[in-house]
Amino acid sequence: MKIESLLIHGGIDGDENTGAVNVPIYQTSTYKQPEMGVNKGYEYSRTGNPTREALEKLIAELEGGYAGFAFASGMAAITAVIFLFKAGDKILISNNIYGGSFRVLDKVFTNFNIKYAIVNTSKLQEIKEAIDENVVAIYIETPTNPLMDITDIAEVAKLAKEHGLLTIVDNTFMTPYLQRPIELGADIVVHSGTKYLGGHSDTVSGLAVVNSKDLAERLHFIQNATGGVLPPFDSFLMIRGIKTLAVRMDRHNSNAKIIAEYLRSRAEVAKVYYPGFEDHPGHSVQSKQAKGYGGMIAFVLKEGYSYKKFIEGLQFITFGESLGGVESLISHPATMTHASIPYEIRQKVGIVDNLIRLSVGIENAEDLIEDINKAIELAKEE
Ligand SMILES: *Cc1c(COP(=O)(O)O)cnc(C)c1O
Repeated sequence: MKIESLLIHGGIDGDENTGAVNVPIYQTSTYKQPEMGVNKGYEYSRTGNPTREALEKLIAELEGGYAGFAFASGMAAITAVIFLFKAGDKILISNNIYGGSFRVLDKVFTNFNIKYAIVNTSKLQEIKEAIDENVVAIYIETPTNPLMDITDIAEVAKLAKEHGLLTIVDNTFMTPYLQRPIELGADIVVHSGTKYLGGHSDTVSGLAVVNSKDLAERLHFIQNATGGVLPPFDSFLMIRGIKTLAVRMDRHNSNAKIIAEYLRSRAEVAKVYYPGFEDHPGHSVQSKQAKGYGGMIAFVLKEGYSYKKFIEGLQFITFGESLGGVESLISHPATMTHASIPYEIRQKVGIVDNLIRLSVGIENAEDLIEDINKAIELAKEE
């Protein structure tokens, strides 16, 4: 089955008992055991729940993995994956991974002596040089947030295998519709389901997919032991969201391309970060490993134009955290997602004050252009 169909019919398709075309919301914490030591595959919903299981089977199939796991948030999924490691282990991470992923490594796991080192994972040589006897995994995000750096997943996974390391990929920005890291050699894929997979900005969720029985057993043990599971209703919302992923992503892709080109054509815009541009440094790798360029864009307004006025000038493009919903969302990395990074470092890596991140929604592209055009006109400083 092709992915467009798998999104709709993958995992557990409907309900065998009643013929319902949707998996029911099994809103139950426990299950009747007909006899001592006998059950129908479920004992307690932290350990297993049929609605959650339907989502877990679905994401495993979509990512081409061995098993999937659903968590109460992307951070809960990422945390569970890091629990696979132990004191003394070191993880190499991309230099601008999601702020929350950095925070949990930097402020929580270091207390347990699980260490990290930051590398530019788009440069294979830098990764090679950072590998020492404590390194156990390479954790990458591609494209990165907000500057859209691209890492070659297949090359990193190959290098990791040579050194006996796990490759972990946060696939939130691309989704399995556009990019399947396990097929490129990765061992574990994590997601914030909150974003494109859910797609409607109505639930917080996280997913992890592993490529082997051994990792599946270990991660299921951690999921049950630590308990950050996704509730049945949210599992249902995720399944519902995933059914339309293909059509949504197609529109996110085409709208983002139109908006990126439009922004680039404007004299008031100094720079546009979008991997779909042929002169983007990661363009060829992105074209090789993914089926599209996604819906995320970042851009910098020229001096003399105010990001505040721009954001205030927007009519329906919504200012707020998060991304990947049907509605266009705009955010300001320097004061929001990346505020915890010191000013000098922000300047150095390119997260300047006039940098704006846009999650392009699936609205009509002309309406989006009109909203952006008006806001640019209002952004000029007096
Ligand atoms: C949002 C996000 C996360 C964290 O997910 P939550 O669902 O907010 O916990 C992780 N990685 C990326 C790339 C994200 O965008």
